[in-house]
Amino acid sequence: MTTNDELFARGQAVIPGGVNSPVRAFGSVGGTPYFVARGEGAHVVDVEGRRYVDYVQSYGASILGHAHPAVVAAVQAAAAEGSTFGAPTEREVLLAEELVARVPGMEMVRLVSSGTEATMSAIRLARGATGRRTIVKFAGNYHGHADALLVAGGSSVAEQATSDSAGVTSGAVADTVVAPYNEVPPLDEDVAVVIVEPVAANMGLVPPADGFLQGLRDACDAVGALLMFDEVITGFRLGVGGATERFGVAPDLWAFGKVIGGGLPVGAFGGRRDVMERLAPLGPVYQAGTLSGNPLATAAGLTVLRELDADAYERLDGIAGRLADGLTSAIGGAGLDVQVPRVGPLVGLFFGADPVTDFVTAKVSAETGTYRRFFRAMLDRGVALAPGPYEALFPSLAHTDEDVDRTVTAAAEAATEIA
Ligand code: PLP
Repeated sequence: MTTNDELFARGQAVIPGGVNSPVRAFGSVGGTPYFVARGEGAHVVDVEGRRYVDYVQSYGASILGHAHPAVVAAVQAAAAEGSTFGAPTEREVLLAEELVARVPGMEMVRLVSSGTEATMSAIRLARGATGRRTIVKFAGNYHGHADALLVAGGSSVAEQATSDSAGVTSGAVADTVVAPYNEVPPLDEDVAVVIVEPVAANMGLVPPADGFLQGLRDACDAVGALLMFDEVITGFRLGVGGATERFGVAPDLWAFGKVIGGGLPVGAFGGRRDVMERLAPLGPVYQAGTLSGNPLATAAGLTVLRELDADAYERLDGIAGRLADGLTSAIGGAGLDVQVPRVGPLVGLFFGADPVTDFVTAKVSAETGTYRRFFRAMLDRGVALAPGPYEALFPSLAHTDEDVDRTVTAAAEAATEIA
């Protein structure tokens, strides 16, 4: 039998760190990562046959759980018809129609292949449409790995000593201004766009303070800047119309990914018609992609979205509520200070007594080291949390009450062990 240790060693010989995305290397939690052999709904099974209740769910991409039969069938059928053409297909139009119909205020959308591509392209569009240079982002928000957006990034960027990356020139970030999350920053007439995670989910889970998103809308309007919601995590997860609908604030631009690809590589960025029509071939802002609107990915995405009606979100909310309440009492009951923030189906986990409201306070919690110990104790008990303190938990529609109750029992034991 292949083991995790063996695969990790072989991977490290030919892939930097043995992984294709840094957080997967378990750098901040220690030990050997489990190599997934297969996923089944709420569970993953590793190459050694060990089964975990999975709250990673591809960092939110697998909202229906793994290998949902309808998604598998749709992808198989699409593959049999050809996997990429470099010519438009009907499903691209259907997916774009579905996205536009769901998000209040979004009139047009373009499909790409990742969340990074979506935010990066939308930033170029914002600059092209406004003729301005400056972009404003918030500390601890993660928008993918494009140069201009890595500064003070959340997710596993937060674990780098410098909280950005070598190889990013000062020129590439000269026009990026970083502001503290949950404070409306002062803006001037040079600002092209303010990009924000409407619920921050890459420094753990930090909900927007009351009035923060509306404050951003008003501040942008006052200086003629565009507002972009990075809904790569929140989109089609917080409800039919994502964060836009939930908070009743509409930006000018949106970025999406994860859920809309049903586990295949898809991103999208959208906006008001007058802004989107600045894109090539209609306008002067160039953007393109060989695999954009890919037939397999659009088949998966459409299938997932069709499962996501109001009833599905209600169920997901119930699963997340049961999980959050259970974790709060299980971990708190063992005498540990814990905060389990929740926004609908998104759940967070912070250790420590000081309320987490931004990147500074999120770091204080992460640096206690308790998450690392809790993660390991949970993994030993067959529950897979994200292998880093700056991520959220992603319950899926495949998680049953039994899965959640098992998780809560494991959490009570794990917390007692590490307390
Ligand atoms: N934006 C947000 C809010 C994200 O969470 C992520 C990825 O985690 C991205 C953008 C980048 O997406 P991708 O990893 O698909 O490039």
